[in-house]
Amino acid sequence: LVGSQVVDRSVDSVCPFCGVGCQLTYKVRDDKIVAVEGRDGPANHGRLCVKGRFGFDYVHHAGRLTFPLVRREGVAKHGDAVPPRDADWRDTFREASWDEALALAAGKLKALRDRHGPKSLAGFGSAKGTNEEAYLFQKLVRTGFGSNNVDHCTRLCHASSVAALLEGVGSGAVSNPVNDVAHAELILVIGSNPTVNHPVAATWMKNAAQSGTRIVLADPRITDIGQQAWRTLPFRPDTDVALLNAMIHTVIDEGLVNQDFIAQRTSHYEELAQSVARFSPEAMAPVCGIPAQTIREVARAFATAKAAMILWGMGVSQHVHGTDNVRCLIALCAITGQIGKPGSGLHPLRGQNNVQGASDAGLIPMMFPNYQRVDNASAHAWFEDFWGTPLDRSPGYTVVELMDKALADESDPHKLRGLYIMGENPAMSDPNLNHTRHALASLEHLVVQDIFMTETAWLADVILPASAWPEKTGTVSNTDRMVQLGRQAIDPPGDARADLWIIQQMAQRMGLQWNYEGKYHGVAAVYDEMRQAMHAAIGGIRWERLEREGSVTYPCLADDDPGQPIVFIDRFPTQDGRLRLVPTELVSADETPDADYPMVLITGRQLEHWHTGSMTRRATVLDALEPEATASLAAADLARLGVQPGERITVRSRRGEVTLRARQDDGTADGCVFIPFAYAEAAANLLTNAALDPFGKIPEFKYCAVSVQKAG
Ligand code: SF4
Repeated sequence: LVGSQVVDRSVDSVCPFCGVGCQLTYKVRDDKIVAVEGRDGPANHGRLCVKGRFGFDYVHHAGRLTFPLVRREGVAKHGDAVPPRDADWRDTFREASWDEALALAAGKLKALRDRHGPKSLAGFGSAKGTNEEAYLFQKLVRTGFGSNNVDHCTRLCHASSVAALLEGVGSGAVSNPVNDVAHAELILVIGSNPTVNHPVAATWMKNAAQSGTRIVLADPRITDIGQQAWRTLPFRPDTDVALLNAMIHTVIDEGLVNQDFIAQRTSHYEELAQSVARFSPEAMAPVCGIPAQTIREVARAFATAKAAMILWGMGVSQHVHGTDNVRCLIALCAITGQIGKPGSGLHPLRGQNNVQGASDAGLIPMMFPNYQRVDNASAHAWFEDFWGTPLDRSPGYTVVELMDKALADESDPHKLRGLYIMGENPAMSDPNLNHTRHALASLEHLVVQDIFMTETAWLADVILPASAWPEKTGTVSNTDRMVQLGRQAIDPPGDARADLWIIQQMAQRMGLQWNYEGKYHGVAAVYDEMRQAMHAAIGGIRWERLEREGSVTYPCLADDDPGQPIVFIDRFPTQDGRLRLVPTELVSADETPDADYPMVLITGRQLEHWHTGSMTRRATVLDALEPEATASLAAADLARLGVQPGERITVRSRRGEVTLRARQDDGTADGCVFIPFAYAEAAANLLTNAALDPFGKIPEFKYCAVSVQKAG
């Protein structure tokens, strides 16, 4: 029984939205999910947020794609005219059989590869898919397309965090799980809005605060978690490095460094100390807008806490200096010895439910599975032997770079001509959408595999109808490095198919001879091959163990290894075993406000909607709670603009404009406007800037110049 309803079955799975990885149970009646309940998983202990509890009926939405579609002959693609959500597509596409659609989808990609070379093709996988799908997809691109042109939305969220972490500590994942906040005396939450983006994780932070943990919230937007904070640091957008270097300066200046930890566990300390000498709080206070004495007070508290932990989000990573921001966080933890013990360490709060796992599985252009560099000779030789085929040695292009390559001259030998997108929506999620949509429209061949007619699918040549999360079995890895098993609760609608089956069909038609026989459409066989390729991380997590235990944390190297929630206890997985300290300089945002565009745009998510909204805006309860796009501004800015809350405003940048309702938000700083990017009818990314962090290649979603006027 669920309430007064009798259900046919209960199926244990994992929430498909954020990286917290809450375990849940689908309640199914008449092959429909009618309710969701939280389970006692290690990340949630029965808790769910509004998305996990109510965001399930998108799977039964009338707009689900239920058969393959092929673009009608002669129907042009228009990058500047994406139709409204769930518009009638029948004049643009016609139904096709799976045989016809797959033959066309793979056949044209193969023809482009044979004619123009491997670099003319690319694949975007998905952080919404399973680990097995991510692994198989990148293997298809590397062994079938013939290059490393494979990427996914990690490039849009934490790529700069991963770049800094790999460089500094030798691992791109978290050092301690979120729940470790219970053991921290102080937690620094920076560039993160956890009550919205990681709601159940935020409940653990609030519980910790109630038990005496001091929360420091450092963010240009003071969000709900600020109510629990001991100190809030509303620093000026774009000044993260100034604030953090001033904290590092204070720790050194006031003799609060952990000498033993620095001597035994780190390298390049002298360079760091020399570099931050000029970043005194007194010098940086006018830059970042935080009083020097507050910077010193917080730095002292962090350094002298028995255990202090840093959790951060995309407010840190989505800048042209995103990698530098994270280098500072690593340095702050290292010089205070706040890493490698309970309640301490570095935790980049991963966004998507499986962005950690998809990255681990090799869905990135510079790394094979388990972060083995494609240009490393021994890793390259190992994978050539393992997959039994020659492999490209050069890193591929990233998401945003590939859009530029699509619009490159005919003479460019790396011009992108064919693209296979599985479960991503770059026509909504990429920066500078007018550019992205024209790039997608210009492709000679675009194959999109998805569950809805997304803004990206409208620009496709072939659309392959895929399965939603509750319609398949597979594993995902959460922000805590837990590999968790989700089980199939219902069948896909109509003739939609499992993504793993579709990838294999594409591979076969690209000329690959794969054989993943077995139960669950071969998912266990794919997992086992991936486990071998990632032996140094998940070697001890066999499929049977996941079926038994449901969740195991890596590194886990043997069958009897319980997994390691806290890492770096004795050494760092770098070449010399030490954490490398990297000094940073002040780097300005790529586009700063001026007379024409005097305000700063910050984009992000909101509690009820997930990323480009393709799922949550089709979930009845969530859509009813937040049905319309809004822009958040401070009361002073609304007054200056002569706008009442609820009135419509037009926000313009050098790249586009959107019109939406204004919302008063006292946490948003004067001169800033915040817009969630989930709304196709007011797509925030029409405005954003595609300037990239040079290391992580992540776009600057958190800062560009805009103007705001009352609409009409
Ligand atoms: Fe799902 Fe994240 Fe909410 Fe948990 S916190 S229920 S994983 S969206």
